[in-house]
Amino acid sequence: MTIVLSHRAKALKPSPTMTISALATKMKAEGIDVINFGVGEPDFNTPEYIRLAAKTAIDENFTRYTSALGIPELRKAIANKLLADNQLSYKPNEIIVSPGAKAAIINVLMAVCDPRDEVLIPTPYWVSYTSQVEMLDAIPVLMPTDVSTDFKIIADQLEQAIRELPNPKVLILNSPSNPTGAVYSRTELEQIAAVCLKHRIVIISDEIYEKLIYDGDVHHSIAAISDEVKALTVVINGISKAYAMTGWRLGYAAGPAEIIASAARIQEHTTSCVNSIAQKAALCALTIQSDEMEMMRKEFGKRRNYLVGELNKIEQIHCTLPGGAFYAFPNVSYYLENNRKNIHNSIELCQFLLQEFKIALVPGSGFGADNYVRFSYATSMKNIVEGVHRFSDGLKAIL
Ligand code: PMP
Ligand code: GLU
Repeated sequence: MTIVLSHRAKALKPSPTMTISALATKMKAEGIDVINFGVGEPDFNTPEYIRLAAKTAIDENFTRYTSALGIPELRKAIANKLLADNQLSYKPNEIIVSPGAKAAIINVLMAVCDPRDEVLIPTPYWVSYTSQVEMLDAIPVLMPTDVSTDFKIIADQLEQAIRELPNPKVLILNSPSNPTGAVYSRTELEQIAAVCLKHRIVIISDEIYEKLIYDGDVHHSIAAISDEVKALTVVINGISKAYAMTGWRLGYAAGPAEIIASAARIQEHTTSCVNSIAQKAALCALTIQSDEMEMMRKEFGKRRNYLVGELNKIEQIHCTLPGGAFYAFPNVSYYLENNRKNIHNSIELCQFLLQEFKIALVPGSGFGADNYVRFSYATSMKNIVEGVHRFSDGLKAIL
């Protein structure tokens, strides 16, 4: 008997970031010496004091369902963090804890988007935004950017895009950005917010890389521009990147009470709540001060400087210095246009580099930018030194 899958399932493409990581992990398990620049997760361990909090939660039998919104003390800790770091004041009913920022984003999208609503997405974009929007039968509208604006949309471009659309509903903003590392300034955010206010566009502000910013630059949340902007914005954040806790699966959304209540209703019927033990671990992460996070940020900063410096030494490779996150996004168009190996796009280039030179990179096409490849520098300096050599050798080999 043939089973007919849903149109949603059939339309859904695999996540390129997860696919590359899985492939590199499999090759490693087979004994192949692969250098994995694919995975977007800190290579550090979750700090010990956070792991201890989780062990205590188990020993104290904190092992039952919690409220769909998350335990009150964690939501209070998130509210305190948002106030202290972002000058944003939220009540407990304006915050929901979800199984990862990824889940927080789709819950919010589900709460605000009807089929055929348009969701504006600055491009290059993080791989899951477009797929999540499509899963809801809403329409992703890509707004291309390039190095001339440091991969950031500008207010006029947003205004123009909105005017051309029948049902513009949401803007997904990601600063610092995955994959470009672009960090929006307060002035840029003010200008974008003014356009959103004028057209009543809901802003989903993905701030998951907030803590990973370099060169003394600072993170600004668009929600902090004014109370009017805050009333249209849902801030997304989590513990995966800042505290090296990707596998714990905990993120959160903070925004207008009616959106958060709808997201909670969705969560009640889908995942119920976040794992109770992870909630206790997150409470510890957000309340105990430690210098481990700053140590990680400094290490990422050193790797960034080295990697981007070395990439730019390769003939015809151009890579902007990313202001935040832990990705480098070099332009490889010269090699796509001038090679004798029948390599036409970033997927074919990444396949060649993985098979022949044993380095895993994510093709730019997954981020809506086929002339690029993405390196995650959340890997050791030793791997970066060796990996960038392999990249350079691989590129030379195709010319
Ligand atoms: N947003 C961006 C931009 C990301 O890169 C990621 C990485 N997975 C997420 C959201 C999701 O993070 P989480 O692990 O909390 O689901
Ligand atoms: N966000 C990370 C990345 O872009 C982790 C993988 C994922 O969730 O897509 O690589």
